[in-house]
Amino acid sequence: MLEEIFAPQSVAVVGASPDPSRLGHRVLKNVIDNGYKGRIYPIHPTASAVLGQTAYPSVAAVPNDVELAVLVIPPQHVLNVVEECGQKGVRGLVVITAGFKEVGGEGVKLEHQLVEIVQRYGMRMVGPNCLGVIDTVSDLNASFAALMPADGEIAFMSQSGAVCTAILDWSKEANIGFSRFVSLGNKSDVDEVALLQAWGNDPQNKVILAYLEGISDGPGFIQAAREVTKRTPVIAIKSGTTAAGTRAISSHTGSLAGSESAYESAFGQSGIIRARTMEQLFDFALVFAYQPLLTGSRIAIVTNAGGPGIIATDAIERAGLQMAEFTPATISHLQANLPATANVYNPIDVIGDAKADRYRIGIQAALTDPNVDAVLVLFTPQAGSEAEATVEAMAELSANQSKPIVASFMGAYSIKPALKLLNQYKIPNYEFPERAVSALEAMWQHRRWREQPAMTYARFDVDKEHVRELFAQVREAGRVELGEIEAREVMAAYGMRLPDSRLSRSPEEAAEIAKEIGFPVVMKISSPDILHKSDIGGVRVGIADPQAASDSYELIAYRARKFSPNARIWGVLVQEMARKGREVLVGVSRDPQFGALIGVGMGGIYVEVLKDVVFRLAPLSREEVREQLRAIRSFPLLQGVRGEQTADLEAVEDIVLRVSQLVSDFPEIVEMDINPLVVYNRGEGVIVLDARIILQG
Ligand code: ADP
Ligand code: MG
Repeated sequence: MLEEIFAPQSVAVVGASPDPSRLGHRVLKNVIDNGYKGRIYPIHPTASAVLGQTAYPSVAAVPNDVELAVLVIPPQHVLNVVEECGQKGVRGLVVITAGFKEVGGEGVKLEHQLVEIVQRYGMRMVGPNCLGVIDTVSDLNASFAALMPADGEIAFMSQSGAVCTAILDWSKEANIGFSRFVSLGNKSDVDEVALLQAWGNDPQNKVILAYLEGISDGPGFIQAAREVTKRTPVIAIKSGTTAAGTRAISSHTGSLAGSESAYESAFGQSGIIRARTMEQLFDFALVFAYQPLLTGSRIAIVTNAGGPGIIATDAIERAGLQMAEFTPATISHLQANLPATANVYNPIDVIGDAKADRYRIGIQAALTDPNVDAVLVLFTPQAGSEAEATVEAMAELSANQSKPIVASFMGAYSIKPALKLLNQYKIPNYEFPERAVSALEAMWQHRRWREQPAMTYARFDVDKEHVRELFAQVREAGRVELGEIEAREVMAAYGMRLPDSRLSRSPEEAAEIAKEIGFPVVMKISSPDILHKSDIGGVRVGIADPQAASDSYELIAYRARKFSPNARIWGVLVQEMARKGREVLVGVSRDPQFGALIGVGMGGIYVEVLKDVVFRLAPLSREEVREQLRAIRSFPLLQGVRGEQTADLEAVEDIVLRVSQLVSDFPEIVEMDINPLVVYNRGEGVIVLDARIILQG
């Protein structure tokens, strides 16, 4: 719960200067002025009192226990003071002081030492280099923010202090309240994971917002988020999604995956709602903070204008929500009570001259209809409109409702009082209908996530030991790239089907092996250094007789020498020719923060052009793989179009799950491609025609 930070019995402000121009003064003033009920101790080397509170020369000199210490002192004094705090039995620290990791060099060292002391005493610390923390439940403002936010049920964490101050300022004007407000700073102890865990269990937070620049512990974050989001919605905005590391990327999958896909997958797979813009972050937050959770996707619209009704209808359909279909009782009730020109089907159009009474009829009918899960009220200011009375009606009708109601009162100038009233009644209002619909969509996403059944993880019987030995041999040979032959062995050890295939070292041998395998065969250059064999003409398919096999050997070997003069050539692989099927790519790329990303998409030689590959983080459950496949744009091609049969999707799922097991067993695999995986019709399985693996260097 991190009570030592958010609800301490006592607070010492170290660096609480009597000089009003100093930051420490500001922090103490914030603690005193905002209703904090615990004991307050200004710490200052010389002052006997600051802002009317008895001051002490050091934390050690305070005659009572100190639970939280807020540090606003020069960085060179921080270590000593923190050590002293540890000895005094202080439980929590908010280190506002800057000059640590963020300045590099000495600062990095200083921060390491700081963390060491904090851990040694089992304290918890927010910061260093932060704006501080605010808790409106315990009325503690331990920050140098210029404002105290209103009470509310939104918990907010930010990696940027500047974003904090901007949000605070805005929220004051918009009159939006917070339960907790934290600037994470360098987050060298309390980070986003610790806050998720602390906040997710507290009913004071109806929704958790996070402004993230980077995540320190990817797997920990996912694990914490998965639990928390089953109870509390978490909305995150991630800025600065940069390229995944600096390692040269050589596989198909590697070139398509980026840290953007990693974050997208991490958020999606842990139930976090991703906001694309700051505006969205709060659009979503409001509906969760103010309204009951949506239980279904059927939306009713009540409007006084046709156009906005149509816009909202379109948005609802695009969002994967549905326009509610009213019961006959609702329709006849509306017909009997609204003017003949009104539209009584969804959207309910109460017509431009509607006063509040007509809205009341429409809203009540919609709210009580069993086929409706949420109501969206659209309002355009017109000659006879009664904006405030309309809000009053909404508030009254929705007061004891378990269905969410949201508003889009369009305009600004003439409806200011109504907008204020909407906020007072905790009815989220959106300037435009599309934004209201997006907020409902976010709610629906959260609802479905919460209801999703537990995930199942397959565990296949595999020959892990064989792979371990093989990797050791490859490394012994001074390589990190596995050639197709070796990669095939790995796939076979993990139970995947492969075409019969053997290495030939001369034209004669190629003809011999081809005869044994049976025509037609495929021949491919075998070299650990040639990643894309077709690019140099190193693959020939449909070789029909021994003469063609020996000719192909010569040709392939010649091309390899010509186009890749430095490549180590092992020979030419002679391979059973698989019959045609649908070509799929299954690949792996490793993200520095989140670990193995498994990509699945339509395969073959156009993957990089089509970029139709969907990534998810390993380890994957069967449910996640199923969803992943359906997220591929060309998924209909796997389902079969124009009379084609459905592909063997279950066999594809199995391969992805086996790959997931493989990369979880071997974190040293940094990149991998199975391309193509040929997929046959349902019941006929799949076959791996080509595979590459690259190990950590
Ligand atoms: P690379 O990707 O290195 O160019 P592949 O081994 O994937 O080489 O071969 C290129 C293409 O040749 C594949 O995408 C597939 O269409 C075809 N192919 C490869 N091996 C076989 C095989 N055993 N049977 C049928 N077609 C094959
Ligand atoms: Mg290939």
